Amino acid sequence: MIKAVRGFKDILPEEIPYYRFIEEKIKGILENFGFREIRIPVLEHIEVFERSIGNTTDIVEKEMYTLKDKGGEILALRPEATAGIVRSLIENALHLKCPVLKFYFSGPMFRYERPQAGRLRQFHQFNVEVFGIKEASLDAEVVALLYIIFQELGIEKHINLEINHLGCKECRPIYKSLLINFLSSKKEKLCKDCKRRMERNPLRVLDCKNPECKEVTLQAPKICEHLCTECRRYFGETLDYLNILGIPYTINPMIVRGLDYYTGIVFEAISTEIGAQSAVAAGGRYDNLVEDMGGPPIPGIGFAIGEERAVMLLKKEKKVKEEDPRVFFAVLGEEAKRTMIPIVFKLRLKGIKCEMEHDCRKSLKSQMRKADKIKAKYAVITGEEEVKEGFTIVRNMESKEQFKVKIEELVRFFEEVER
Ligand SMILES: [Zn+2]
Ligand SMILES: [Zn+2]
Repeated sequence: MIKAVRGFKDILPEEIPYYRFIEEKIKGILENFGFREIRIPVLEHIEVFERSIGNTTDIVEKEMYTLKDKGGEILALRPEATAGIVRSLIENALHLKCPVLKFYFSGPMFRYERPQAGRLRQFHQFNVEVFGIKEASLDAEVVALLYIIFQELGIEKHINLEINHLGCKECRPIYKSLLINFLSSKKEKLCKDCKRRMERNPLRVLDCKNPECKEVTLQAPKICEHLCTECRRYFGETLDYLNILGIPYTINPMIVRGLDYYTGIVFEAISTEIGAQSAVAAGGRYDNLVEDMGGPPIPGIGFAIGEERAVMLLKKEKKVKEEDPRVFFAVLGEEAKRTMIPIVFKLRLKGIKCEMEHDCRKSLKSQMRKADKIKAKYAVITGEEEVKEGFTIVRNMESKEQFKVKIEELVRFFEEVER
């Protein structure tokens, strides 16, 4: 038996309604907030991610799916969407065409990580990005939007919104050296990865999952206590707007995000109910990213929601399923089938979900078992005799009530009962 690739999962029909529910709900909210959809390719040149996410991050170093195409070019399956959206913005000069640079995007992402609950190698994200505005009120709007999405999905009580500020070009380097000094004094207690990260990317030590590293970093200097005056003002103002909007949040100085491009506000929607993978959504401000990737200096902010993780939370709250077929057509014999098939089509085109048994040699009993199994509300039973008389038998599957309906009036009959 050929199996799916490890970490790649089928989303089966029973699960699709959860994904659709989430996607349609989020799209509806985002359109009201003035966002426009963008669709970017799955494959990008590897530089797109190296230059944005950063060469020393886990994503680029260890987790990216890369391949050499037949022309010898090194390409990568996107591990996240922001970099590709920025590439598209620059390439298409979207800042000159679009009056409002608010985009949303949804699709699969790929990371070579150890698969576990809530973590797949192909996973799905819903992305939101805003470019061209740097105002605390906008940052608050974006963070609030994330909360509102969870609220509209009915799962806000399963998440905690946590915020931090990573400083700017002025104050972050000062903090970084403070942190390096601190970590150097505790070096022997850190894990192998962190010893290596310490020099190149000390902030990453703060979100190491290793319990010993966690204990060390508990005492580490906190970035939000070492912000410059301007960053402190901006952070305070953002939190103020969140208060005005009534959005609950906690400040968590340990949130640093695993990507190099973040500057300023960073935030995560955390849940303790989805296993070791606690972030259901995450994002932040990335004011240098467009310029770093070769574009004009355009600030940006955005977030991504992990759809699989949101589905896990949604399942705790409610059952989302597709609508069952309304009518099942049991046909006994060739003549019955030929008579009923155009009626089945007519009803379907009128928006009434129907199924018909294609094997008209099957017994009535086995056809009715199928009607039960698919949870049809009505069964229409037609045999040779009925066709000859111009009538058919309609059975209400719940009440077991049966009545005769003229074949030529069947469409009108269901239009009326389904109204
Ligand atoms: Zn600063
Ligand atoms: Zn560590």
